[in-house]
Amino acid sequence: MKYPQPQFVTGLKCLICSREYPADNRFTCTDCGIQGILDVQYDYDAIRSNPKSEIRNPKSFDHWRYRELLPVSPELPLPHLHVGWTPVYDVPRLAKHIGITKLFLKDDGRNPTNSFKDRASSVGVMKAIEFGFNEIACASTGNAASSLAGLSAAVGLKSYIFVPKRAPEPKLTQLLIFGATVLRVNGTYEQAFDLCGEACEKFGWYNRSSGINPYLVEGKKTAGLEIAEQMKDNLPDWVVVSVGDGCTIGGIGKGLQEMKKLGFIDRVPKLLGVQAEGAKPIYNAFYSGKDLIPSDTNTIADSIAVGTPRNWRRAIQQVRLSQGEMITVSDEEILEAMRLTARLGGVFGEPAGVAGAAGLHKALQKGIVKPNESALVVITGNGLKDIQSAKRATGEVLNVEPNLKSVEEKF
Ligand SMILES: *Cc1c(COP(=O)(O)O)cnc(C)c1O
Ligand SMILES: [Zn+2]
Repeated sequence: MKYPQPQFVTGLKCLICSREYPADNRFTCTDCGIQGILDVQYDYDAIRSNPKSEIRNPKSFDHWRYRELLPVSPELPLPHLHVGWTPVYDVPRLAKHIGITKLFLKDDGRNPTNSFKDRASSVGVMKAIEFGFNEIACASTGNAASSLAGLSAAVGLKSYIFVPKRAPEPKLTQLLIFGATVLRVNGTYEQAFDLCGEACEKFGWYNRSSGINPYLVEGKKTAGLEIAEQMKDNLPDWVVVSVGDGCTIGGIGKGLQEMKKLGFIDRVPKLLGVQAEGAKPIYNAFYSGKDLIPSDTNTIADSIAVGTPRNWRRAIQQVRLSQGEMITVSDEEILEAMRLTARLGGVFGEPAGVAGAAGLHKALQKGIVKPNESALVVITGNGLKDIQSAKRATGEVLNVEPNLKSVEEKF
C-alpha cells in the first residue's frame, strides 16, 4: 500500500553542511557521512495559514495533536496507544527544598512503556509502515528498545532488538513480553549499534536507531511542543533535560522553537542539559567548543550512559540557541534526586529519569539557576524500570512479628 507524503514536510537538511535532500528513507548526509545528521524541514507558513489546522483546535489528547508538525502521512492509521500529553505537576515542597521559587515536573514515565522514548518510537513505527517495511530494529541500552517493542506490538510490526550486556532486567522483560526478538550482544553499546546497522542492511529491516534516523527526533520534539502549550501562561525560565545521545534535548529545543515560530509563546526557555559525571562527552564538547571526543561510561544512569553520542551537534546547537547551560551530576546526586522527587514530588523516576532534577539542584547551588527563577524538569523514565538502583536509594523494610508489641518496639 502506498501512503501520501506527510503534508507539510519539505525535505531533510544536514546539520553540518546544510545540504538538502528529499524526505525519503535515508539516514545521514552523503557528504558528511555518519556525523551528518539530517533535520526534517517544514513549511511553517503553510502550517500557520492552514485553515483546517488542528494545532489551534486539537481533538486528540496525545501527541498526535501535533500531526501537522510531524513527519507522518496524513492517511496512515495511528497506533492506538496513548503517547505524550503527559501531565505537568506543580511541586512546591520539592521547590522549597532545592531552593527555587517555582518548580514543575513533567512526568514522561506515564507513557505506554514508561519512558520518553515512546514519543520517538511511535513516529518510527509509522515511518517503517509508510516505507513498506514489515520489520524494524534498534540497538538500545533499554528504553528505546522496550518502547520499540511495545509500539511494534501495537501496530503489528516484527521487532528485533540488539542490547548491550548491561541492560537492566525489567527493561529486558518488557522486550520479551511484547514479543521482540532480543539479541544480547556480548560487547559494548557501540558494538551493538554497529551490528544493528549491518543487520538492517542485510535483512531489510527498518533501522529505528534514533541517533541517526532523522524522523525519530521529531517524535521527541513533541515534549517541547507540549511544554509550550501546557505552560504558555506560566512559561518557566528553564527547561531541564537529561542528556545521553542528545536527541531528547535537541528535540525538545526544536519543539519550543517551533512553538515560538507559530506564535504560541514569545520566548524560548533556557535549556539546562544534564549529563552524568561518568558519561559527559557532550558536556565536554559544549564547554570546549571543539568537536566531541568519545569517552568511556561509568554511571548508574544506564539510559544516558552514552560514550559516543550521535546527536551531540543538535543538542549543543539547541542549548546555545536557548542561551542555556550544561551541568554534570554524580551517581550519589542522582540517587538523592530519586529520593527527593519521589518523597517531595510524588514522582518515581529511574536514574536517568531524575538526573535532570539532580542537575537543577546543583545548578541552584552553583548559582547557574537563580532562586527567583522558575523551572520545569522533564522526568524521562519511570523508576520501576530499574529496581536495582532504586533499592540503592532507599532504606530497608522493618520486619515485625504479627503482634502490636513487636510494632511498638520499632518506634
Ligand atoms: C534515552 C533517555 C534519555 C536521554 O535521551 P537522549 O536522546 O539519549 O539524550 C534520558 N532519560 C531516559 C530515561 C532515557 O531513556
Ligand atoms: Zn552534510
